[in-house]
Amino acid sequence: MTEPALVEDYHAATASERHLPEHPVIWDETLRDGEQTPGVHFSPEEKLRIAELLSDVGVAILNAGIPVVSDKEARAVHLLAHAGLKAKVLAAARTVPADVDAVIASGATHIAIFVAASNVHLRFKLKMTQEEVLQASLRSVRQAKEAGLHVAFVTEDTVRAPFDFVERLYREVQEAGADRLVVSDTVGIMTPLTFRWYLQEFRRRIQPRDLSVHCHNDFGLATANTLTALECGAIAPHVCVNGLGERAGNASLEEVVLCLESLYGVHTGIKTEKLYELSQLVEEISGIPIAANKALVGYNAFSHEAGIHTHGILAHTLTYEPLQPEVVGRERHMILGKHSGKAALVEKLKERGMTATDPMLLDLLQRVKTETEARSKEDLHHFLLEYRRLYERPGLSDEDFWTMVDVVGIRAVSA
Ligand code: MN
Repeated sequence: MTEPALVEDYHAATASERHLPEHPVIWDETLRDGEQTPGVHFSPEEKLRIAELLSDVGVAILNAGIPVVSDKEARAVHLLAHAGLKAKVLAAARTVPADVDAVIASGATHIAIFVAASNVHLRFKLKMTQEEVLQASLRSVRQAKEAGLHVAFVTEDTVRAPFDFVERLYREVQEAGADRLVVSDTVGIMTPLTFRWYLQEFRRRIQPRDLSVHCHNDFGLATANTLTALECGAIAPHVCVNGLGERAGNASLEEVVLCLESLYGVHTGIKTEKLYELSQLVEEISGIPIAANKALVGYNAFSHEAGIHTHGILAHTLTYEPLQPEVVGRERHMILGKHSGKAALVEKLKERGMTATDPMLLDLLQRVKTETEARSKEDLHHFLLEYRRLYERPGLSDEDFWTMVDVVGIRAVSA
């Protein structure tokens, strides 16, 4: 007689509906979109430190930045392109000849050529017609292909653009040699169901040789939408460590990878046990703290306090943990506090070879709860106020800005 399974796994029931890539190409955007997180900037040397670990962790492609942005940025891309990394180094360019030239000069082997697609972007930002966008895109793709680069073609705001235009644009750039097509949910308005419809339609109309997606987290759906795209046959998901990126950020590298590995059993080529180290390095260098309740890499992701939960975990970790903390380089923590139960205390006492009688345990438990509840929140409040001061408005202070205005010699026009 076989033992019944401890937990049922219903992912098998939807297996026939998934078209997951056998070898996903993890495309990291931490050093480009991640650096565009408000208040974040990386020096070339900092980019190299992050890139080395990203490469070591197993990321297939990493976007090093946009070399035309500044001399320092060009130096950073050049540094990464010549660092002998295992990961492919990509740099980004607008559909402007000088931008593509800067990528060619950087030594990066991969380029992402980007232009906007939606009417609001064309009319108010680019001030270009669809025909002009198409011609600029074709020119840039050909320029990059002639230089021997692997070309990904990206449109911003793809999923809010007229489909007929998207179809024509992507079909023509693919014919012109673009190796990979990237669909962007630039403002994060897709839902898994709508994105599935969109990508099925995209594949039917355009037949991309290689499909990639770029999802933002404005409604907290970046990881879910990215997973949906992978289920629909996308190969190269854009991700950022700790979910960094513009506004609410991008799909998080660790979440997308663990969904694939742990929920669907897909090998991503990522050394998952190094993800926490990577997460902490990016936290340190970016200065953006990881939320305590962030999936997988937040402090609380493998911590247990409540008595019922701790008791369950001590009996069998499957009760309240979907994966072992070691898988992502973490440790489990039992937190003593208001919600603790006797089991946690028994376990704690074992560390020093101690046992206690039941009345002793109840006495100890009461003390633990009372002490926790009596704790002052003063330190926490100080920390939060400081956090708000530093993070509410990162970047240059107004005071510094107006001083510069004064130094430049700009004066108010008197009435
Ligand atoms: Mn973006």
